[in-house]
Amino acid sequence: MEENERKKFKILIEKSIEDEHDNIESLKKNTQPVSPDNAIGRLSRMEAISEKSVFDASLRKAELRLRSLEGALNRVELEDFGICSECAEPIPMKRLRAVPYSSSCISCLESHDG
Ligand SMILES: [Zn+2]
Repeated sequence: MEENERKKFKILIEKSIEDEHDNIESLKKNTQPVSPDNAIGRLSRMEAISEKSVFDASLRKAELRLRSLEGALNRVELEDFGICSECAEPIPMKRLRAVPYSSSCISCLESHDG
């Protein structure tokens, strides 16, 4: 990977990490325990609980993504960043931009799905 390409990815990953932190902060506000009797507007308690579980799931995904992004930030300086860990071919830029922490190319990923 070209050195300037690598720098761009580093910036992209750092930006994504910031976004993910913001995302997690706002999700956390929505995953406070549902109190039994306070004013939660038009939502019933059951609705509030089911909505909370949706936010919980999003929060877990966001935290996973954040860890993956931090891992990618550690790897971005390494020689094999952007190289498929299975076939050792360069991962297409388009895919790396969409998922900077991907470690395999699309054809290897698809071969796992059957
Ligand atoms: Zn591959």
